[in-house]
Amino acid sequence: MAHKFSFYNTLSRTIEEFIPNEEGKVSMYTCGPTVYHFAHIGNIRTYIMQDALIKALEYCGYDVKRVMNITDVGHLSSDADTGEDKMLAGAKREHKTVMEIADFYTKAFFKDFDAVGNKRPEVIEPATNCIPEFIHMVEVLLEKGYAYVAGGNVYFDTSKLQDYYVFSSAIEKEQLAVGVRDDVEEDTAKKNKTDFVLWFTKSKFEDQALKWDSPWGVGYPGWHIECSCISMKHLGEYIDIHCGGVDNIFPHHTNEIAQSESYLGHRWCKYWFHSNHLNDRAGKMSKSKGAVLTVSVLQEKGYDPLVYRFFCLQSHYRKPLEFSFEVLDNTVTAYNNLVKKVEALIAADEKIKAAADQNKEDIAAVLEVIRNSQDIDENVKKEFEEKFADAISNDLNTSMAVTLLYDILKADTNAATKLAVVDSFDKVLSLDLIGHALADDSADIDPELEAFIKDAIERRAAAKKAKDFTTADAIRDELLAKGVEIKDTREGVKWSLV
Ligand SMILES: [Zn+2]
Repeated sequence: MAHKFSFYNTLSRTIEEFIPNEEGKVSMYTCGPTVYHFAHIGNIRTYIMQDALIKALEYCGYDVKRVMNITDVGHLSSDADTGEDKMLAGAKREHKTVMEIADFYTKAFFKDFDAVGNKRPEVIEPATNCIPEFIHMVEVLLEKGYAYVAGGNVYFDTSKLQDYYVFSSAIEKEQLAVGVRDDVEEDTAKKNKTDFVLWFTKSKFEDQALKWDSPWGVGYPGWHIECSCISMKHLGEYIDIHCGGVDNIFPHHTNEIAQSESYLGHRWCKYWFHSNHLNDRAGKMSKSKGAVLTVSVLQEKGYDPLVYRFFCLQSHYRKPLEFSFEVLDNTVTAYNNLVKKVEALIAADEKIKAAADQNKEDIAAVLEVIRNSQDIDENVKKEFEEKFADAISNDLNTSMAVTLLYDILKADTNAATKLAVVDSFDKVLSLDLIGHALADDSADIDPELEAFIKDAIERRAAAKKAKDFTTADAIRDELLAKGVEIKDTREGVKWSLV
């Protein structure tokens, strides 16, 4: 029996108890990245919170299958986008073909996606793999009278629906209707302002790069159709949870529902999970603002990607989160303190310490010893695991989950129990505290060498300050000769044994 699980369903605008279509199983769809540019840390926040949701569901006893698309065709964030094909713009900017661009940014996306501890979806499908499926869905929508051809394009006819703005309250519907009227560039082929393109043959962009044959002429699919088709291809006619950022609610998810349910003739997805924006001091993070702050950039600046994950987990997914380097620096301190505490716990348990000394490189072997320790107080462990399940199943309260992590470290119980609970929580938090504690050499270093290192780092800092780079470099070499490598990071100089 799975643990009771509730979260906010954007469709009903309430926190609902989650009841999947099939007991114990969850089919989940995630809108994937558009691969003409880097995904910024705000995009990655969305994927971290989705990862927490999946792992929380698994922790509570559900079996989750997740599908994600890769938008590697065109283009648009909405039909209102003007200007040029973004994939083509990327290709021109970087002197590459569009498919090279898509491949490059797909790899860059997954590098950052993986680095923050996310589990990859079971199915990842590029849109360009599914052109026949898109064409089929458009054909059926035309047959059923939900779509029409005009000016060379195929449009979805929103006037055929009882309720197009499914996510919105009455007041929001008014505002959206006004917004649509004001924002959208006049497309005279549309019957209704909210109609959207299913298949383009008349590109707004003169040199649209990727085109395919279709019954309506050579062209390319609209953006929304991707997610409906790819979801149905792998998850069937009913899905449990559809995820995305709040940006996707309108028009993307609204349009996905319109076309999917018209195509299927029945309800499609029960629960809609949306995470909020990451802002910087200047406002919402955006791809179009020039220099893009990515997880890789954070790494280059010396930040551990899991520290960024820790930062995200301490805030609720439905609230906007403000990013600053000051806050991230505080998170580094907090994270390092947690690692030190875990190190001390490892040192405090003789058997675990022996395993850690023997298996420096093999975290799995040490985790085995922790999990099978005879000294674990099972009652305490169970009590904490239940509290943890209650927190994460209560609208994904990750900050409460982090509080429980601090609580177990302070709890009145032995080291083996604490480590077993930290390991258990990490199934969802994925902060790898135990792995970091094992990798940290500073705990069992000879105190004399440690004093020498500290002194050398201070001497080097003084030399650098005096612009005496020859001495600074010499000190670095001196350390290296003793097997100590130093790195300059935002949080100061870090050293490790090599
Ligand atoms: Zn989507």
